[in-house]
Amino acid sequence: MSLSNVKCTVDNCRYWQNENCQATAIEVNVDEGGKRAQNSKQTQCHTFEQK
Ligand code: SF4
Repeated sequence: MSLSNVKCTVDNCRYWQNENCQATAIEVNVDEGGKRAQNSKQTQCHTFEQK
């Protein structure tokens, strides 16, 4: 079962469909490592797989 209500704009990901994520779970990390981000631009989805 996919996650509900996870909006995503990365349309070349294999889990992406119609502006939503169809993965069963996602992992999001801070860009430069560590556990603290200053803003949303410093985070990214590591579940991404290119189509
Ligand atoms: S896995 Fe990540 S990048 Fe891919 S559709 Fe889901 S949220 Fe977007």
